[in-house]
Amino acid sequence: MLTRRTMLGGAVAAALVEGRGLGTVARSVAAQGVPGAATLRKRLGARMLMRGNPDYEAMRQLAVFNARKPNRFPNAIVMAESVDDVQNAVRYAKARGWKVGIRSGGHGWVGSHMRDGALLISLANLRELRVEPETMTAIISPSITGDGLNAVLQGEHKLMTPSAHGVSVGMGGFVMCGGHGWNSRVWGPGCQQLKAIDVIDADGNLIHATAEEHNDWLWAARGAGPGYFGAAVRYYLQVHPMPQVMRRNGYTFDLSHLEEVTAFLRNNTPKFPAHLEVVMLGRMIDGRPGLFVGASGFGSEEEVRGALDAFDAAPVFRKAATRKVQQPFVAPSRYESPTESLPAGYRIVIDNIWTNAPSEQLVPLMRSLFENLPGERFNIFFQCWGPVREVPNAAYSVQGEIYISANAVYMDEAEDAKNDAWALDAIRRLHPISVGAQMNDENMALDPQRYLSEEASKRLEELRARYDPEGRFVSFLMKA
Ligand SMILES: Cc1cc2nc3c(=O)[nH]c(=O)nc-3n(C[C@H](O)[C@H](O)[C@H](O)COP(=O)(O)OP(=O)(O)OC[C@H]3O[C@@H](n4cnc5c(N)ncnc54)[C@H](O)[C@@H]3O)c2cc1C
Repeated sequence: MLTRRTMLGGAVAAALVEGRGLGTVARSVAAQGVPGAATLRKRLGARMLMRGNPDYEAMRQLAVFNARKPNRFPNAIVMAESVDDVQNAVRYAKARGWKVGIRSGGHGWVGSHMRDGALLISLANLRELRVEPETMTAIISPSITGDGLNAVLQGEHKLMTPSAHGVSVGMGGFVMCGGHGWNSRVWGPGCQQLKAIDVIDADGNLIHATAEEHNDWLWAARGAGPGYFGAAVRYYLQVHPMPQVMRRNGYTFDLSHLEEVTAFLRNNTPKFPAHLEVVMLGRMIDGRPGLFVGASGFGSEEEVRGALDAFDAAPVFRKAATRKVQQPFVAPSRYESPTESLPAGYRIVIDNIWTNAPSEQLVPLMRSLFENLPGERFNIFFQCWGPVREVPNAAYSVQGEIYISANAVYMDEAEDAKNDAWALDAIRRLHPISVGAQMNDENMALDPQRYLSEEASKRLEELRARYDPEGRFVSFLMKA
């Protein structure tokens, strides 16, 4: 069955009869009937802001959550309000020979979609959100935020899907980069929830991709992140029954307990029940570097109570400075926590690794990392992710049992270079134990690690060459 939904009319039929591929159709139709740049420009109207337009700079700034705005300037920004707008914008870029960057929720700290001389298409004004409980599917624009989506899923349907731990993160980048969200140790990462996708290709055609048809587009959307070769305009996401209970334990520690706490977390990560999500945050507590450990449980009353009680029974928690157990909470939160590791309004630099290093190797590397927090909001995030479960049919292909990121969070522009160096230096010290890095917090420009397996990288490059031979869509940002 033909699922490419573009209205190609007779050209499609002719191509099918002649046994030509749809790529050929798209190209020949583009040559014949696609309007020129002037017509497309007119169709986009006031939604297209050329550089020099009085609103351009405000929209450019809004396109990136990070207060450290990229020093890169697209030729124009399209504030798309429909899928048609995205198609017209891609065709316009093609007519002008420009590249295209796509922004969903804008929370990628790097702002990979913001490129000099390109067309930036912002999906911020696409607000589709439909839930089909009978097929357990949420159909959304990629700009819908994880907390916004889950508010509807939970409030109206008692359903849920993994989304970012922080508020206001777009599902677009979260899913496309992998997506390590709430209850992902049970449901899998965000990309695993992506059952189908609607995407605009380099010629401006709309493709509906599933595992059965046009699977290359789905495979790549599940983990290729900024390396994707299309503009995703609609996600079809798996949703799950909302856990009956969400409760957590929280502990703070003096840094003197760092080694003991880290060893406990590392050694027990593979044994923590899947419905328990455990993280450690190194941050300033009362003006000194300290530790916060959180264990969040999802499931039935019995499952959650049992898992949190068992966690709390570990002797290491008797040494905590503060201890709160069995606290009800809502995930994702609708509001930013005062201790959010990546707060709004701050300049942010991140670098990260995945590691499988055993405790003996990992623990000795932790002190210099956790001790050295040069500012009040700087933090080290340590997530107990394993045991690693492979995601089928996905570009997403690098994971480790433990995830560690160094997050520089500050206000002063004059400190940019210093803080780039801080994040880089913190993570470079961990390179000997790294098995790769996470695309969601990618820092390819400064720290080019392995983000996809060799096999997945190779396939991605082949697909990019096949489906976007002119390189219409920007790819990974390898240089800041
Ligand atoms: C406060 C905060 C909390 C976070 N918490 C988590 C967390 O708990 N778990 C986790 O895994 N990550 C987390 N992240 C990282 C986050 O998942 C990534 O930065 C993600 O890319 C953000 O998605 P977005 O749509 O908001 O961002 P965007 O900046 O819009 O997207 C990032 C990149 O993805 C590509 N892209 C996005 N949408 C499309 C599209 N529709 N078509 C084609 N390409 C597209 C573009 O290259 C774009 O530059 C967090 C980030 C922040 C700032």
